[in-house]
Amino acid sequence: MQPIFARPMSLSFDNTEIAFRHRNNKELKRAHFLFNSMSSAFLTKVGIGLTQFAFKFGLPVKGIIKNTIFEQFCGGETLEEAAKTASVLAPYNVSVALDYGVEGKTSEADFDHAVPEFIKAINYAASQPNIPFIPIKVTGFADFSLLEKIHAGKTLSGEEQKAWVRVQVRIDQICAAAAQKHLMILIDAEESWIQQPVDDLANIMMARYNKQYTAVFNTFQLYRHDRLEYLKESFRLAQKDGFILGAKLVRGAYMEKERARAEAMNYPNPIQPDKETCDKDYDDAVAFCLQHLDQIGLFVGTHNETSCLKAVDIMNERQIPHNHPRVWLAQLYGMSDNITFNLADAKFHVAKYLPYGPVKDVIPYLMRRAQENTSVAGQTGRELSLIKKEMRRRGL
Ligand SMILES: Cc1cc2nc3c(=O)[nH]c(=O)nc-3n(C[C@H](O)[C@H](O)[C@H](O)COP(=O)(O)OP(=O)(O)OC[C@H]3O[C@@H](n4cnc5c(N)ncnc54)[C@H](O)[C@@H]3O)c2cc1C
Repeated sequence: MQPIFARPMSLSFDNTEIAFRHRNNKELKRAHFLFNSMSSAFLTKVGIGLTQFAFKFGLPVKGIIKNTIFEQFCGGETLEEAAKTASVLAPYNVSVALDYGVEGKTSEADFDHAVPEFIKAINYAASQPNIPFIPIKVTGFADFSLLEKIHAGKTLSGEEQKAWVRVQVRIDQICAAAAQKHLMILIDAEESWIQQPVDDLANIMMARYNKQYTAVFNTFQLYRHDRLEYLKESFRLAQKDGFILGAKLVRGAYMEKERARAEAMNYPNPIQPDKETCDKDYDDAVAFCLQHLDQIGLFVGTHNETSCLKAVDIMNERQIPHNHPRVWLAQLYGMSDNITFNLADAKFHVAKYLPYGPVKDVIPYLMRRAQENTSVAGQTGRELSLIKKEMRRRGL
């Protein structure tokens, strides 16, 4: 691969023509309507409440959800539909993390059933040049309360021990299938009170499959005050055991839940004292990984423009080619296209998390996106102003 180094001019995320060139006018207007609605905290709260109520009582809302928030943030209901969406991104050098986004399953049968579903996605991804990643959530393969018990260090019953072995086998089957096809598995981070077994599994899989390339990534949530140190500790472990550390860096999506639980159960809040500290740890984590690219595969998952620009600056300073095979910058599908597409235009390796699955099963994911776009200061305003700018440019 021909290395591509820094451009003399600085990178900007304001070019809306580049940002939205994959969106037709109808899609742009839909995005405008959606982000406008979500900018109202009241409307979002009511919308989330009504959606959860409607699905619980079987009211016919699937059509409305599918044509609005689902279309914006999801690739489709099936692998075939998601594949079509992924192919729309390919001409712009935007890669895809094909995310079977079904959540909230609880039975062993569901966990077993998830494995072939993921293997199908892996096989499809392997046939496509722009789908190098498959994200997984361990809670898609394991009972939440089992993970909670392991995290808390409680003794497992015989049945629970067997269930835990089954979880490890499921995750191993997926990582093995991906490694065989030279794909990359991203193990998502979830609630802090189940993270220990998730980290343990990730470390086992990385030690097994990351000898030649970064086949498996663990996720580090820098909104936790202990994770920058844990990233460094993980790196030491990887060095000691001779494997490449896969580091997917995010700020974290469960902040309110984390705070509420810590308060209710009277233990210290695992979240950083403020946003500035979270931002600092995030950027320090990116810098740390970029310093050790010979032994770390880095996946920068963020919609924060400053963090992306800082990563780009460090790459430029250190003469790291934009298209370095171990550096990826990624955003969620339907959000921050200005970052993704402008980075892609400057030849960085970029990816979109593209969730798919039946509408009712991706509702928790969609509700997180709605909440995030309301409660996170600035994000909706930024999306809206960019969409408006592009609509004006197109004369809409
Ligand atoms: C590709 C990709 C993959 C992702 N995968 C995961 C995953 O596996 N697990 C997961 O949990 N999340 C994941 N996320 C979501 C992510 O954690 C964030 O919720 C989201 O991206 C918003 O953070 P940001 O970095 O974009 O930046 P910003 O919009 O700048 O930051 C918002 C975030 O900062 C943090 N924050 C806000 N206020 C405070 C405060 N007062 N104190 C401390 N921290 C604060 C919160 O994490 C909040 O979400 C992913 C995001 C992307 C783009």
